[in-house]
Amino acid sequence: MSYQHQYTDGALIHFPLGKVVCVGRNYAEHAKELNNPIPTEPLLFIKPATAVVSLSQGVCLPQGRSDVHHEAEIAVLIGKPLAHKVSAQEAREAIVGIGAALDLTLRDLQSKLKEKGHPWEVAKAFDGACPLTGFVAPECFEDLADIPVSLTVNGQLRQQGNSAEMLTPILPLLQYIAQHFTLLPGDVVLTGTPAGVAALAAGDQLTLALGDVLSATAAVR
Ligand code: ZN
Repeated sequence: MSYQHQYTDGALIHFPLGKVVCVGRNYAEHAKELNNPIPTEPLLFIKPATAVVSLSQGVCLPQGRSDVHHEAEIAVLIGKPLAHKVSAQEAREAIVGIGAALDLTLRDLQSKLKEKGHPWEVAKAFDGACPLTGFVAPECFEDLADIPVSLTVNGQLRQQGNSAEMLTPILPLLQYIAQHFTLLPGDVVLTGTPAGVAALAAGDQLTLALGDVLSATAAVR
């Protein structure tokens, strides 16, 4: 099914879906739980548009894989081009939506690739690897540096964090990304996951939320 950006009230956002730029280990507690060192600068990777699905369609686990981890993340929708050196204010003005995402990860495969020093794209960029909720206007949050994010699985709280805990907060992260990749309207930035990642199983019921501003539910199949 084709994906189209939209606001949580159903209004369509007429930007084409571009790439999804992601940051690894942006919360210290998550880096620790996977025995990774805390990076000295953002660790970027990209999911292609073909990885994106609407969370409202449910989460479809890839066939024949047992170790598909959830990573609940705050998602930032870009509405203006950002390239090279941009100010924090330009970065702020380019944000047209805040949503939530799952950065689905084939953890066993990623661990093997990391051991060998190989790129981990196949563990992160597969079809369906990026379920996204609808977006809300950034003004719905008083402070972009104080956005709560949580994931509940079968009624149990699995992940809970806040953008205040990010090693590289949202605006500096956009500034950093723009120095490496031009961000275009329709691109999405995933801002890293707090601790608590674990495997998903068919039948799991998920609730992904940004405090009381945004909440979305989905079943895993
Ligand atoms: Zn992630």
